[in-house]
Amino acid sequence: MVLWMPGPGSYTGEDSAELYLHGGRAVLDGVADALVVLGARPAEPGEFTRRAFLNGRMDLTTAEAVHDLVAAETAEQRRQALRQLDGALGAVYRGWAERLRMLLAHQEALIDFSDEDLPDPVEAALLAELDALAGDMAAALADGRRGERLREGLVFAVVGQPNVGKSSLINALAERDVAIVSPLPGTTRDALEARVVLGGVPVTLVDTAGLREAADAIEAEGVRRARARAAEADLVIAVIEAGGHAVDGGIDGRVLRVANKVDLGGSVPSGAVGVSALTGEGLDALRCRLADEARALTESGGPPPLTRARHRAALQEARALLAESREADWPELRAESLRLALRALGRVTGEVASEEILGLIFGQFCIGK
Ligand code: GDP
Repeated sequence: MVLWMPGPGSYTGEDSAELYLHGGRAVLDGVADALVVLGARPAEPGEFTRRAFLNGRMDLTTAEAVHDLVAAETAEQRRQALRQLDGALGAVYRGWAERLRMLLAHQEALIDFSDEDLPDPVEAALLAELDALAGDMAAALADGRRGERLREGLVFAVVGQPNVGKSSLINALAERDVAIVSPLPGTTRDALEARVVLGGVPVTLVDTAGLREAADAIEAEGVRRARARAAEADLVIAVIEAGGHAVDGGIDGRVLRVANKVDLGGSVPSGAVGVSALTGEGLDALRCRLADEARALTESGGPPPLTRARHRAALQEARALLAESREADWPELRAESLRLALRALGRVTGEVASEEILGLIFGQFCIGK
């Protein structure tokens, strides 16, 4: 069966055709060979979406959302990708770009009239709008990396002394998600990881080597890695034995305390969640707490969040340029900073795009997308 999709209404905006074939390898290979003889070539990764972008069918944030949607593993990731696919994120940037263009137009008018006496209110209004725009950008940047976190998945590090039951706990939590728990090659005290879904967010649980004074060099390396992993984790799950003492010195950031082995009858300190990895007691409550944490780290109520470091970098640059513009002594310099800020914003939606950037973005796509 052949499906013919004439441009400009097709995905890429060009005339396209799809062939539906019987699934056997030899049939596919035979047809592919015949097409190559006729002058076709296999598509590059992401080439269809790249053409769609170049033909003005979508902006860069929408193209990235296509990639995110294909890669989405959980419901929340899918929701975020769909929101971006709708163009909501691109619309925010285009809105800012529009305001910047207005600012620039007013600023340039000021340059032209600088010899005459322009009323102060014009200048004051311009500065007020500049501050308002910079404020909106700052608010978007201060989102706790929610969008990026949801797209990339979270890391929860499980720390505690040896034998408190860290790996048992991870196995117990991973069980229902049929996670693959695999010891990484390396030292015997290396990290173990399990990927689970908590509150619709993909989370990698990392079992770090026990935090204690190391007996030998290999163990010392394990402890060093454990601390490093814990330091960069989105949440630290600090495990003790019920009735035991917490030893979690040197851990910064968000911490959830868990007292394991409640089946042995020890007391649970206040603020900690009591569980037994052995009997399963308290595990549902712990899952709920972890899901709450995962949602709190990724939920965004307001405008669509930035989902990539690329967006963040461009927005930071734009905001810094607005600040520069504010400080500039000469109207010409102020206008120049505004122009550069506009370019930085344009890089997010792809109005300003270099071959290199496009190669980086579309190179991550799979073939056929
Ligand atoms: P880790 O060194 O912190 O990773 O601890 P492990 O998960 O290897 O567990 C250490 C020991 O404690 C093992 O013998 C486990 O079977 C035992 N253990 C783990 N969780 C529990 C629990 O909830 N109750 C009891 N009674 N024993 C447990």
